[in-house]
Amino acid sequence: MNSSPLNRNIVNRITTLLIKYVAGFQNNYQEELRRILPPSLVDLGILVFENIAGTIVSRTRSDSGSIEYVCRICEKKFCSRKGLYLHMRRIHFEDLSDLYMSELRRLLEEYY
Ligand SMILES: [Zn+2]
Repeated sequence: MNSSPLNRNIVNRITTLLIKYVAGFQNNYQEELRRILPPSLVDLGILVFENIAGTIVSRTRSDSGSIEYVCRICEKKFCSRKGLYLHMRRIHFEDLSDLYMSELRRLLEEYY
């Protein structure tokens, strides 16, 4: 009864990469995803990564004019990328790895 297209180790590596990317500490995610994902899942895996990355963090300007990062999962605000990064790792790692897996599974069922 293994309904999961990726093992936990791979999903954890992708989640780590996703958190680094949304916090602005990793730019070349595509190259890295190609290394991590099995070849048959590379295209879909990158699509899911980009979909999630595009929705979980936004930026606003605080009243004092400085940039704030907003976690869209819990709406908490951070004044630094480092703060956002640590928050994502500590609070949402499991949420994000579950989200990645369920989105990948959903698209696999839709397209294949
Ligand atoms: Zn949060």
